[in-house]
Amino acid sequence: MPDWDVIIIGGGAAGLFCAIEAGKRGRRVLVLEHSETIGKKIRISGGGRCNFTNVYTNPQNFLSANPHFCKSALARYTPADFITLVEKHGIAYHEKKLGQLFCDGSSQQIIDLLLRECETAAVAIRRGCQVRNVQRDEQSSSLAFSIATNFGSFQSSALVIATGGLSIAPLGATDFGYRIARQFGLRIEPARPGLVPMTLGPRMQKKLAKLSGVSVDSLVSYRNEQSRQSAEFRENVLITHRGLSGPAILQISTYWRPADPISINLLPDVQAFEVLTENQNSSMELANLLSHYLPKRFAHAWCELYAPSKPLKQFTAAELREIAQKLHEMQIKPTGTEGFKKAEVTAGGIDTTELSSRTMEAKRVPGLYFIGEVVDVTGQLGGYNFQWAWASGYAAGQSV
Ligand SMILES: Cc1cc2nc3c(=O)[nH]c(=O)nc-3n(C[C@H](O)[C@H](O)[C@H](O)COP(=O)(O)OP(=O)(O)OC[C@H]3O[C@@H](n4cnc5c(N)ncnc54)[C@H](O)[C@@H]3O)c2cc1C
Repeated sequence: MPDWDVIIIGGGAAGLFCAIEAGKRGRRVLVLEHSETIGKKIRISGGGRCNFTNVYTNPQNFLSANPHFCKSALARYTPADFITLVEKHGIAYHEKKLGQLFCDGSSQQIIDLLLRECETAAVAIRRGCQVRNVQRDEQSSSLAFSIATNFGSFQSSALVIATGGLSIAPLGATDFGYRIARQFGLRIEPARPGLVPMTLGPRMQKKLAKLSGVSVDSLVSYRNEQSRQSAEFRENVLITHRGLSGPAILQISTYWRPADPISINLLPDVQAFEVLTENQNSSMELANLLSHYLPKRFAHAWCELYAPSKPLKQFTAAELREIAQKLHEMQIKPTGTEGFKKAEVTAGGIDTTELSSRTMEAKRVPGLYFIGEVVDVTGQLGGYNFQWAWASGYAAGQSV
């Protein structure tokens, strides 16, 4: 008999949640976490208040090579289920916007919730535990996995990989999950930074540099012709000294593929051509008119880039039409993103065709499970990534 029924590598959101569910079923569960501190990412999440779920969670809020994969787990553990748990622990929360739920107090309350539930479910947690290698015994029916660590060797019947993605190494991120997948011959969708600021070329950067800190409510859209993947988000775009950020840009970055343009509609609620033609006989400068609809500094910088400002009556109708079109479809070609060091999530990961959508178990390696961000399921901004961590952790927790 192995010492443990279940070993979970990674004591983050998904790993702890899986541990709780498996522990509640009477399984002997050990969590191996390489950091000394549990829940580092949860602590800084949501600006320190942890956006722990989104009440409108829907499979469409997730990006994956197989958009159907997340449906089963999300349906079996819903935002309402997590809210019930939050309320059971007396944690006060509020909806900030768009269904995003945050703690009134601090993210530490969610970490405490998870640790208390782990204790009740008799889950053992080993911190500062470096996993050196993982082996699977093909012969024995009960002893499946042997995990060599700096604390010695542990054996278990089931092994759950919950080591997250590559985002923000100082918070404990490693490529461990992908290495284990490769070791067992499982396919991986290439990992790429998601929910990340985008960078611009030197010319645009220079022009927009003085606007650093200005944000504009916009409709940002993206379409990849090859994959037919498309997305659009209505939120703020923030100019930074290196490029673009703000919720709308973070959202689109998860979908964006290098060398593709993104399109920004700066006036989603206004018919720009109508506004311009209504003022066609005016001696007001274009930039001043646009300042009625856009932040003043932004309107002036935009004119410098796209339509040198002059009195409106000096523009022809064709020029006004072109300006209106640029305002509604400002095409920007980001040069890249700020990478994993700034990315809130890692898109891509363990190819979902390798896993059971019901249990998260590898189809070709019985007893081996992958949950949370290491899987090729990436949530949009707004509490969806934690909901995926809870839901996938729950799914595996019922099966291990
Ligand atoms: C700044 C920031 C803010 C965020 N805010 C939100 C938010 O408000 N709402 C939301 O829904 N999502 C948010 N996210 C995303 C969310 O934190 C992640 O999607 C979620 O934590 C993923 O859970 P996970 O358990 O899969 O991975 P993680 O939470 O990353 O946990 C993985 C764990 O595995 C450990 N580990 C890694 N490698 C090894 C190894 N080799 N051996 C042992 N242990 C290992 C890590 O130390 C870590 O504890 C945020 C992310 C960041 C970076």
